Amino acid sequence: MSTRLISGGTILTSDDANSIIENGYVVVDGNMIVEVGSGQPPTSNYDQVIDASLMLVCPGFINAHTHLCTIFGRSLGSDRSLLQWLSDAQVPMLRALQIEDYVLSMELGAIENIKAGNTTICEVFVCAHYADGVDEVCVAALARTGIRSIFCRCSNDESFFDGFIETRQDIINRSQRLIKNWRNHDRVRIGIGPLVPWGSSTDAFVDAVGLSKEEDVLIHLHTAETPEYNDLVRNRTGKSNVEMLADVGALGDRVMLNHCVHLSDHDIGLIAETGSHVIHDPTSNMLLASGIAPIPKLRSARINIGLACDGPACNNTQDMIQVMKDAALLQKVVTRQADALIAKDVFTMATRGGARAIGMGSSLGSIQPGFLADIILIDTEVPHMTPMHDPISTLVYSARGSDVHTVIIDGQIVMQNRRLTTVDEKEILVKARTHAVRARKRAGL
Ligand SMILES: [Zn+2]
Repeated sequence: MSTRLISGGTILTSDDANSIIENGYVVVDGNMIVEVGSGQPPTSNYDQVIDASLMLVCPGFINAHTHLCTIFGRSLGSDRSLLQWLSDAQVPMLRALQIEDYVLSMELGAIENIKAGNTTICEVFVCAHYADGVDEVCVAALARTGIRSIFCRCSNDESFFDGFIETRQDIINRSQRLIKNWRNHDRVRIGIGPLVPWGSSTDAFVDAVGLSKEEDVLIHLHTAETPEYNDLVRNRTGKSNVEMLADVGALGDRVMLNHCVHLSDHDIGLIAETGSHVIHDPTSNMLLASGIAPIPKLRSARINIGLACDGPACNNTQDMIQVMKDAALLQKVVTRQADALIAKDVFTMATRGGARAIGMGSSLGSIQPGFLADIILIDTEVPHMTPMHDPISTLVYSARGSDVHTVIIDGQIVMQNRRLTTVDEKEILVKARTHAVRARKRAGL
């Protein structure tokens, strides 16, 4: 086990009191944070010392919902609403991807996330070639990059676009195989769940609930993203999206409900009483004209909320710092109250909130002894963060993903001075550019 000392920075702990430590230090032993304090650490014998002077030292961000599989479709179908954007651009692109393209998408997307300080991602994988075992090689690709991931194997058994449907039995078998193969990995976990609420049978939801309990895995669900989601679900079941989930038992502490833009008070009550988690994607919701999630109401109902970029083709980046800013600004605009959602609270959502949502609230998303060493250093020696009177406000409203200097995940340095240590960034960018153009041509776009 090697020991590391990070010293001299301003530590944003994201602990319960959201404490800030000026001129602080963090001691990491293996993959764990073992000491946090201010000034000089009690001993001086470490395998490595990292100078964090003029840096913010934060827990890595948890990008609690993305689709790296759509990264080759970035900038295609812009300025269209969700279902139009899917059918015009993203679905044809996904159909045109070959296995190697999916692998490159995972690698490129993980690099983009790491470079923005996102140490954990929930990849909600969409694929037209499940039978080829593409899910397995994609999980392996993510693992190689050093990122922490929940790989959510989500698909539908009834209606989605042609080529994306699997039978219930295939969904169960392939999910079980993936869960078994990655059960003991340090940084990878598998999640499950129907992809969209209007594309799966009631039985498929019941299957997912059963599998989640049997295998102790998370369920990740697109929920009430647009008014059409509720309409489509109501046409099938006579209920709202959330009421339908309650009906089939698909709410609870293991369930992440992504988007939750169009909710009734009854829906909010169901989410709160079942302890389900909400993931908020403000930038995506703006880009696809989906609407504004009722975050203050969800917070009043004491619902845990994580933050997410959503896919690189509907954000269109993986910059969680921008997402934090968008989350705060959007609520100020819609309520015309400057304190409707404040910087400190969106920072908590991007760290502790995401960690709680993935069932790791007591081991991830905070810089305190006993937590996993997923830590980022943000360089503040730049004009747009000078002066820095209020570190959290500076992070949320002034910083950018490109200010992230060093990234440590599970105790390993995966980026130092903006250079990846795990994979060859340049080589992957070159390949991705070529492969994306080829895929676009195959898609006829
Ligand atoms: Zn999504």
